Amino acid sequence: MNEFIEAQVALGWEDLRSCYDVVIVGGGGHGLSTAYHLASRHGITDVAVLERGYIGSGNSGRNTTVIRANYGIPEAVRFYQRSVDLYSRLEEETGRWIMHDRKGLLWLVHGIPGTRNEKARSIVNQAFGADTVYVTPEEVGEICPDVDLNAGGGEYPVTGGSYSPHAATARHDRVVWALAEGAMKRGVHVHQRTAVTGLLKAGDRVTGVLTDRGPVAAGVEATYRPWRPWQG
Ligand SMILES: Cc1cc2nc3c(=O)[nH]c(=O)nc-3n(C[C@H](O)[C@H](O)[C@H](O)COP(=O)(O)OP(=O)(O)OC[C@H]3O[C@@H](n4cnc5c(N)ncnc54)[C@H](O)[C@@H]3O)c2cc1C
Repeated sequence: MNEFIEAQVALGWEDLRSCYDVVIVGGGGHGLSTAYHLASRHGITDVAVLERGYIGSGNSGRNTTVIRANYGIPEAVRFYQRSVDLYSRLEEETGRWIMHDRKGLLWLVHGIPGTRNEKARSIVNQAFGADTVYVTPEEVGEICPDVDLNAGGGEYPVTGGSYSPHAATARHDRVVWALAEGAMKRGVHVHQRTAVTGLLKAGDRVTGVLTDRGPVAAGVEATYRPWRPWQG
């Protein structure tokens, strides 16, 4: 993260401690989102995110920025639909402009197998809570008149597609900064330039990590309690 951004986003860098309740390896979207949600939803704030480079320096800072749920596997649809919903509220929740823009996603196909696939995708998506619909070439033209339905001079005509009206884009690095700030505001420590080099173990259990700045215990022994729903 550069100095300009650091001045805009309220990130407070703390010294690395030798023990936290939770240690998360990697300051990408997954690590920071885990830290943010542990802190904001579960009140678990004694958390360290250890990042060997800078936050968002992995995939999360260099992706295509599409937020969508139109996957073909039932489990994935439900999972990603939840993400689409969470992303749509992230600006309001964090007070940070992540450039979230719900613009819809048009998935085009050229040929009979692709058309069949989009029909199947739409059915699976709707069955598992996503709003993807199959669209005919005429409907593609209505949704986006700029599409050349006879692409390649008629060689690759658009034969159909699917449309997901709730799909969006968001600026990837703003997402990680918003999550980092939201987590840090609640007490989470994020440590950049801290590489995890190994695991600390007690028997067959992982109890912490080794880093290039020293060992960090994850507090598992002290706080771990098996979940017993009847005990509250
Ligand atoms: C070109 C491209 C386009 C994509 N487009 C999309 C898209 O449009 N929509 C979408 O939803 N997904 C897209 N993805 C996928 C998405 O970007 C990734 O699934 C997501 O960013 C993964 O997040 P992550 O936190 O798991 O990984 P990362 O963001 O890669 O974070 C992992 C972090 O861990 C750190 N790390 C690794 N090893 C260590 C260590 N030993 N110690 C400390 N830190 C360590 C790395 O430095 C890194 O910062 C795209 C990916 C790519 C590459």
